[in-house]
Amino acid sequence: MSKLRFNVVQDAFKKKAVEVEAPAERPSSYFGELAFNRDKMRKYLDIRTYDALIDCIDNGKPLDMDTADKVADGMKTWALEHGVTHITHWFQPLNDLTAEKHDSLLEYDRKGGMIEAFDGKSLIQQEPDASSFPSGGLRATFEARGYTAWDPTSPVFIQEDTLCIPTVFIAYTGESLDYKAPLRKALKAVSDAALPVCRLFDPAVRKVHSYLGWEQEYFLIDEDLYAARPDLMLTGRTLMGHASSKNQQLDDHYFAAIPSRVAAFMRDLEIEGYKLGIPLKTRHNEVAPNQFEFAPIFGEVNLANDQNQMIMTVMYKVARRHGFVVLLHEKPFAGINGSGKHNNWSLGTDTGVSLLAPGKDAKGNLQFVTFFVNVLAAVQRHNALLKASIASATNAHRLGANEAPPAIVSAFLGRAMTDALHKLLECPSGTPIEIAGKKGTSVGIVEIPQIFMDNTDRNRTSPFAFTGNRFEFRAVGSSANCAGAMTVLSAAVAEQLLLFKQDLDRELAAGKELNVAVMDTLKPIIRSILDVICFEGNGYSDEWQAEAKRRGLDTETSVPEMIKAFTTPASIRLFTSLGIHTQKELEARNEVKWEIYSKKIQIESRVMGRMAANHIVPAALSYQNRLLKNVSLMKDVYPDTYLEKAAVSLDLVDKISDLVSVIRERVEAMVAARKKANVLESEYEKARAYHEIAESLAAIRKPLDKLEEIVDDDLWPLPKYRELLFIN
Ligand code: ADP
Ligand code: MG
Repeated sequence: MSKLRFNVVQDAFKKKAVEVEAPAERPSSYFGELAFNRDKMRKYLDIRTYDALIDCIDNGKPLDMDTADKVADGMKTWALEHGVTHITHWFQPLNDLTAEKHDSLLEYDRKGGMIEAFDGKSLIQQEPDASSFPSGGLRATFEARGYTAWDPTSPVFIQEDTLCIPTVFIAYTGESLDYKAPLRKALKAVSDAALPVCRLFDPAVRKVHSYLGWEQEYFLIDEDLYAARPDLMLTGRTLMGHASSKNQQLDDHYFAAIPSRVAAFMRDLEIEGYKLGIPLKTRHNEVAPNQFEFAPIFGEVNLANDQNQMIMTVMYKVARRHGFVVLLHEKPFAGINGSGKHNNWSLGTDTGVSLLAPGKDAKGNLQFVTFFVNVLAAVQRHNALLKASIASATNAHRLGANEAPPAIVSAFLGRAMTDALHKLLECPSGTPIEIAGKKGTSVGIVEIPQIFMDNTDRNRTSPFAFTGNRFEFRAVGSSANCAGAMTVLSAAVAEQLLLFKQDLDRELAAGKELNVAVMDTLKPIIRSILDVICFEGNGYSDEWQAEAKRRGLDTETSVPEMIKAFTTPASIRLFTSLGIHTQKELEARNEVKWEIYSKKIQIESRVMGRMAANHIVPAALSYQNRLLKNVSLMKDVYPDTYLEKAAVSLDLVDKISDLVSVIRERVEAMVAARKKANVLESEYEKARAYHEIAESLAAIRKPLDKLEEIVDDDLWPLPKYRELLFIN
C-alpha cells in the first residue's frame, strides 16, 4: 500500500465514535420543538387566527392578508425565541434537491434604528431570481421570475438560524416548476375521487387522506477515504474499483450490531429529526457493507415527503460531524446492493379506517377489496408511467440491473389475497366477504386473514408489493424526491376510482344492491389484473421478461425512452383531466429530465476519462517500468536464460500494454461520442446519445479494474473497495 493511502486508511480505521450531546429530556418532550406545529399555533396565535389557519390547512379555505400578518407575527415571536435571524422560502426544484435563499429579518424601523420584521406578505409569497433552476424552457432566462408560495399544510421549521417556509415553486405564467405543486394537486385528486366511493360504504366519511412511510437506505463512508476518490466526490459513486474479496456474501452486515461510530451518527440524526418533528422509528444495518436504513412512522404524504427532503439535507450535515459522508446515490459500489427508498403508501378516511386493510365486517371487507383492486388496476394501466416516475441516470443502475426492482412494474399480492381474488370471481356477487374466525358463524366463502404480515411470503423482487395494510412501491431511488412517484400513483388511482364510480353508478341505476353492484363492477377488473399486473414469481428471470411483454407490460430499459411515458396520449389525458399538469408542463418537465440525465452521464464520463488518464494509466506504467527493470536486471545476471527467468514479469508487461491500449481506445471513442452528443439540439436525442455513453462507461471500467488486480498495491493511487467498505 502506498504510504499516502496507508495513512488515510489507518487514520480512518482508528477513528472513534464522536460523543453525542443528547438533550437531557426524553425525545417525546422535545419532539417538534423546531416545527411550528399545532401546539405552537395554539400558543403563539390568537384564537381567531388559529381557527382561520386550521380551516385553511384542513379545508383549503383561503387566508386573508390580515390573518396572514397575524400568523407571521406569531411565527416571528416563536422564531426569535430560538435565535432565528433569517427566513427562507424552502422549495423542491426538479433536481431532486431542496433550495433555499436566506433573507435576514432586519429592517429599518424608520426611527433611525433597526428591527426584526416579518409579515404576511413575506410569509405567503417570494419572488426569487430562479433563472438557474431547471425549467425545460418554461421560464426562459430573460423572464427569470418564478414565485414561491407558502404551503400552509406543512409546518414551517427552524434550521440553525433560519426559519424555513415550505413552498411551491411556480413560473410567472403559472406552470409548476417543482415537485410539491403537482403532488398537492394529485393528492387532492385522489382524495376527491375516493370520497364518493367511501361514502357509499359509510356516509359519515368527510375526507380521504393519503399516507406515506418512506424507508431511506444510504451508505456511510469515512470522509478521508471519500476525499481520496474523485469519482465519489464528483459523481456520488465509484466509477471504478475491483470487487473486494469479501463483500456481502455472508449476509453478516444485515441487521448486525450497529458500529459505534455509525450508532453515534444515527443518534445524532434522530435528535435533529425529532426536534424537527420527524417521527423516526426504525434504524438498522442494510445488506451491503457500510449500508444502513432508517424509516419514520408513516404520515400524510405531503408532510412525510417534506420530512424526507429535510432529513436528506440534515443527514449530510450530521454525518460530517461524525467524520462521514452520506452517499444517497442509488449505486455507489458495483457488485453489492444499491440503495432505494421504499414508499409505503396507503389511503385512509378521517374516521380512522384504513382503505387498504381488511375491514371489521363484510361491508368493510368489500370496501377494502374495492380500493385494493382499483389501486392495482391503476398501476396496471399506468405501469410505464410509474416506471418513468422513478427513472433517472442514477436509479438506472438498479432498474433492470438484476437488482430490486426489475425494470418492469408488476404487483405482488401474496398468497392470501391472490386466493381471495380467485374465490371472489367464483362466488355470486353479493356474497358477504367474511374474515375467518371473526364472526363464528362464518358463511365465509372468502377468507381474508387479518394479519398478512405474519404469513407474508415477502417477495423482494417485486416493485409494487402488498404488505398487509399498504402497498410498498419499492422502485423509488434513494436520492429521489418521493413526490415524483407519489404524484403519478395518486393521479393514476384517482383516475381509476372515477372510472370505477361511473361504472358502479350504472349498475346501481339498474336497481342492484350495493354489494352486488360493487362486485359486478369489480369482477372484470379483477380478471384483468390477475392476468396482467399480478405476478408472484421471480422478477429477475428471463422468462418474466418475455411473459411481461406478452402481457403488454412495459419492458423498456433505457431511461431516456422510459421518460417518454409522461407524454403519451393516456398520460396527457390523465394529468390534464385531473388538473395536475398541462401538456406544456409535461413536455417541459421531460426536457428537464433528459437534460439532467445527459449532464449526469457527461460528468461521469469526464471523470472516468480523467481518472483513467491521470490515475490509473500512470500507475500501470510505473509498475510496468519496474517490471522492465526486473527483466533488464535478469538479463545482466542470467544472459542466457533471462527470458525464462523473467517470464512472469514479461507476461505482466504484455498484459499491461494490452489493457492500457484498450483503455486508451475506449476512452477516445467515448470522448468522440461525447463531442457528437454535445452538439445535438434536442434534449431527447442528446439523452439517447448519452445513454450509449453510459453503457460505454461499463466497458471502460473492465480493463481499469483488471489493472487493479495486477498492479503492485504499493503503486495503486485510489482507496480500494476493501478499504472503502469496511471502515466505520
Ligand atoms: P420493512 O419491514 O418493509 O423494511 P420498515 O419497518 O422498515 O418496513 O418500514 C415500513 C414503513 O411503512 C414505515 O415507515 C411504516 O410507518 C410504514 N407504514 C406502516 N403502515 C403503513 C400504512 N398503513 N400506510 C403507509 N405506510 C405505512
Ligand atoms: Mg425496512
